[in-house]
Amino acid sequence: MADRFPAGRRGLMLVLSSPSGAGKSTIARRLLDTDDAIELSVSVTTRARRGSEVDGVDYHFITEDDFARMREQGDLLESAAVHGNYYGTPRKPVEAHLASGRDVLFDIDWQGTEQLAAAMPEEVVRVFVLPPSMAELEERLRRRAEDADEVIARRLTNAREEMTRWRDYDYVIVNDDVQRSLKRVQSILTAERLKRVRNPALGDFVEALLAG
Ligand code: 5GP
Repeated sequence: MADRFPAGRRGLMLVLSSPSGAGKSTIARRLLDTDDAIELSVSVTTRARRGSEVDGVDYHFITEDDFARMREQGDLLESAAVHGNYYGTPRKPVEAHLASGRDVLFDIDWQGTEQLAAAMPEEVVRVFVLPPSMAELEERLRRRAEDADEVIARRLTNAREEMTRWRDYDYVIVNDDVQRSLKRVQSILTAERLKRVRNPALGDFVEALLAG
């Protein structure tokens, strides 16, 4: 259940990054299920849809032409090439959620995180998820088994590169247990929501408090 906050809280942007297979998507899904004040930013991608994925829920699956058009028109808050495909964050839904005082969750890579943090430094909170070991990472990638062998091999190589970016993040979690990781992300979110700068309505509240 979400906590109560003074009216007028400024929404924050919670970024979760990790190499594929570190378990970040499971953490993200569970966070969304347990917290009704945060919305997922659904990215656009030019990658092929996996069997279990739903268009409009996991991603908006679009063509390279559509992607190029969106980027040119300024419809993307950030964009990057990852594993040979293009990914980007549609601008409008994010701005709408933030304007209504809601938080937004991003499952994006380090390149996108860098762009978001540069554009909106006050809003962005960066969390990096590490796997407990490389063996576990490979095992999770294989268990998913929705990608071809060569794709898995490429993702493993890229995972090492991605992991060197951990220093660019505000918080780092080693995902040895999904439930424990979820609790950690929830704690980060709770603390970040309580930051004074995110609660401009507190001024009026304290004034009323002191006048009482
Ligand atoms: P996957 O293809 O396994 O769903 O995602 C591959 C990588 O692309 C993941 O690290 C994921 O976080 C990242 N990604 C997904 N959407 C976006 C996006 O909109 N922007 C950026 N920069 N990265 C994204």
